[in-house]
Amino acid sequence: MHKMFDFNPAIGAWTGSLGLPEFAKIKAEDFEATFATALSAHLQEIDAIAGDREDPTFENTIVALERSGELLTRASSLFWILASAHTNDVLQALERKLAPELSRHSSAIMMNPALFDRIDALYQTRDRLCLDAEADRVLELTWKSFVRSGARLNDTDRKRLAAIDERLATLGAVFSQNVLADERAYEIILESEEDLAGLPDFLISTMRAAAEERGHANTHVVTLSRSIIEPFLTFSSRRDLREEAFKAWGARGEGAGERDNRPIAAEIVRLRAEKAALLGYETFAHLTLEDTMARTPESVDDLLRAVWQKARLRAMEEAADLSRLVAADGYDLAAWDWRHYSEKLRLARYEFDEAELRPYLQLEKIIEAAFYVAQRLFGIRFRRIEDAPVYHPDVRVFEVLDDSGERRAVFLADYFARPSKRSGAWMSVLQVQHKLRRGRGESGQIPIVLNVMNFAKAVAGEPVLITMDDARTLFHEFGHALHGMLSDVTYPSISGTSVSRDFVELPSQLFEHWLTEPQVLQRYAVHYRTGESIPESLVAKLRAAEKFNKGFANIEYTSSALVDMALHALGPDDAARIDPMKFQAEYLADLDMPAAIVMRHATPHFSHVFTRDGYSAAYYSYMWSGVLDADTFEAFREAGDVFDSATARKLRRFIYSSGGSMDPEQAYIAFRGRLPKPDALLKKVGLA
Ligand SMILES: [Zn+2]
Repeated sequence: MHKMFDFNPAIGAWTGSLGLPEFAKIKAEDFEATFATALSAHLQEIDAIAGDREDPTFENTIVALERSGELLTRASSLFWILASAHTNDVLQALERKLAPELSRHSSAIMMNPALFDRIDALYQTRDRLCLDAEADRVLELTWKSFVRSGARLNDTDRKRLAAIDERLATLGAVFSQNVLADERAYEIILESEEDLAGLPDFLISTMRAAAEERGHANTHVVTLSRSIIEPFLTFSSRRDLREEAFKAWGARGEGAGERDNRPIAAEIVRLRAEKAALLGYETFAHLTLEDTMARTPESVDDLLRAVWQKARLRAMEEAADLSRLVAADGYDLAAWDWRHYSEKLRLARYEFDEAELRPYLQLEKIIEAAFYVAQRLFGIRFRRIEDAPVYHPDVRVFEVLDDSGERRAVFLADYFARPSKRSGAWMSVLQVQHKLRRGRGESGQIPIVLNVMNFAKAVAGEPVLITMDDARTLFHEFGHALHGMLSDVTYPSISGTSVSRDFVELPSQLFEHWLTEPQVLQRYAVHYRTGESIPESLVAKLRAAEKFNKGFANIEYTSSALVDMALHALGPDDAARIDPMKFQAEYLADLDMPAAIVMRHATPHFSHVFTRDGYSAAYYSYMWSGVLDADTFEAFREAGDVFDSATARKLRRFIYSSGGSMDPEQAYIAFRGRLPKPDALLKKVGLA
């Protein structure tokens, strides 16, 4: 027996209602001992698999691996959810300590020669194993991931690779904590009436609620939360305050000393290039892209640059229009003017006012709308469970029922910003769906999925009103959640969102399309005071204005995706030499980046790319998936009904339920009968 450490059983055995962990019984201090136990238990299981005297079989090797590490899986999913959505000093310290430990642990498994020999023996004889398609794919993916983790390297190279991975894990944790620290620390307190000039009521009350939460009662604060900073930059007519806030927003991750992410990004880029070289790849981008739909940096570049060219021309026209307005006020157009003046121009051109839309966008109704669309498409229903265990009182729990009334998933939703939460919006998984039997009568497990967002709370007694962007974000993350909740596969490693990075944004981006369908808006975009549906004239203006400012939006995104790809398409020698800020500046200059637009995510706070979950060399995925989701939604249009049941059935089977059980290209063809047509993308991003 391995040594049993003293650990809290509530982390491993989820005995709360709906199979949830009993969060109230878990303290941050409990994780360390639990991880120690979980890691050693997992290694024991691995040793038993690797040292099995029987010849390797799919069952005693691959299935055994799939089953192994249950306590570790549970402890990890709980820990990372808390570390992102409700962290504290203890969790943060443990995150820095655990990141390299978990990386060491994973290296020890992926580079275990006896284990790999068994997997390799199976893989080399796979034609004779008579596996079903799903099992065959799991074998292939397992073998590839071992190879890509260094299983075939010599001893020296293995050690170096393990050291690199360990260091990268630490750097990723520090990078993300630095961004959070900068976001938490920053605020502008607005005390006088003049400081509020131009701000609509909703923003004033949101900023008041934020001030109260931060202990500055009876004032208003500008924070770096997207749901405050973006409307502030849009509406504030105080150019000095806009400039101050914009610069702070753009400087996240550039804090002095230990909080400076610039040297961290440089080291990450260098280590990733070295890792790729060790594994025999030209660059880190080649390593990452091998297993995606895009496959090569060149095909990514082709797509991004095609959009970039069109976006840039459009953005130059937009800049010229805005410059005229700004000049009338006596300035030259600067980056902190763009949102403000484009809002004025939009108002003038389309008579469309974001603030006019807002009373119709109640958070609670938009949540209902997301549930409604899921029900129409997939026949599932959401039932709120009031007394289920949660890690923070703001978290809501829903039971997800199939049309037969059977529970098929549990959904947790955590919508509001707070200082213990990192910024952005995401989906996490507490428990993946699978169908591996453990004991008699037990057939796998249902998924438990989480959506986390950062909406600002309203002042007490008022409904939370959100922007159209917020509503899109909610639909987007809910699409990811459905991908996890509708999963219907046998093996955990290919469950739900465990698909190629450039395919994973398809279920999420696709779901956004239904938000602005008339059938949905009429029902759920209702005025919070009068209960009246959004007027058709306002919807028409919304649609007309949708093409507005698309040069800006696409430049913001595409420049980030291009810089991400360029940084990771450097060979090891170049990567060892670069200063990422200088590289970024020169690269943008070469691209002819419009002067008054900045990257949506500059390198020092580009968490997608530099923290642990990894959209590194993969930020392009949103656009790649964009080709797919635009073409997928067209299938409903062609069927003449956005809820067409035959199309929805295929969509569920091949896209939302199949996880990684199929090659993504084949899954898409199975759904659509062909590969996507790229023209749909330009229409979708408003550049057709
Ligand atoms: Zn997404």
